[in-house]
Formats: sequence, structure tokens, C-alpha cells
Amino acid sequence: MTIAIIAHDGKKAEMVQFLHQHKDILQSKKCNLIATGTTGQKAKEAGFEVEALLSGPIGGDAQIAALVAEKKVNLVIFFRDPLAKHPHEPDIFMLMRLCDVHNIPLATNPASAQLLLNGL
Ligand code: PGA
Repeated sequence: MTIAIIAHDGKKAEMVQFLHQHKDILQSKKCNLIATGTTGQKAKEAGFEVEALLSGPIGGDAQIAALVAEKKVNLVIFFRDPLAKHPHEPDIFMLMRLCDVHNIPLATNPASAQLLLNGL
């Protein structure tokens, strides 16, 4: 079970908190975490084992989108900041679009992410 985690800057603390709150389920399901660069760094600093790809604005979202297209990701948790502008908006939409194309579960806020994890 590979889970991709991405959090925009305004949501990174919330992502780390979410990981802590769901540590048990992540461990019991032997989840393998991958992340965009800075999100991955924050998760590592919090003690989680994560494979960090490129930072989002320089291609990390696109890397995760490619893995979704190859069916190498089972679930995407993407805490987007709807109140901020992002230079890599096209990559963000590509990632969400490819989740829909390939029917990969995508949660864009903690409430939906919690429901998805509980459904594992
Ligand atoms: P980051 O990228 O984890 O490298 O900050 C997230 C994003 O903005 O897509």
C-alpha cells in the first residue's frame, strides 16, 4: 500500500499532526509513504519514514501524478491550501485529474483523509 502525501505550506503542520494521529493505522497496514520534497522533509523530521521526491513547485506533484498514472500509488492525501496561490497550479490539476482518470482515491482535507484511512 503506497500512500502519497502532499501538503501546501499553509497545511504542512496539519499534515504532520494528521500523520501522528493516524500512526497506528499507517503502521498496521504497512503503508509506504512517498511525498513531495518539503512535505517529506517535515514528515521525516517528525519521525516518519518517507520517500521524498522533488519539491512540489519544481516537479514533485508531477512526479506523483506520473506514479498515479502507472498505478504505483494506491491513495493520495493532498492537503491543498485553497487560500493561497501556487505557481505550479497546472501540476496540481494534473495530479487531481490523473487520480480521477485512474480511479485512485484522493483526499484533499483531513476529514476526507481520515475517512479514507479508516476504510483501508
Ligand atoms: P512541497 O510541495 O512538499 O515540496 O512543499 C508541495 C506542493 O506545493 O505541491
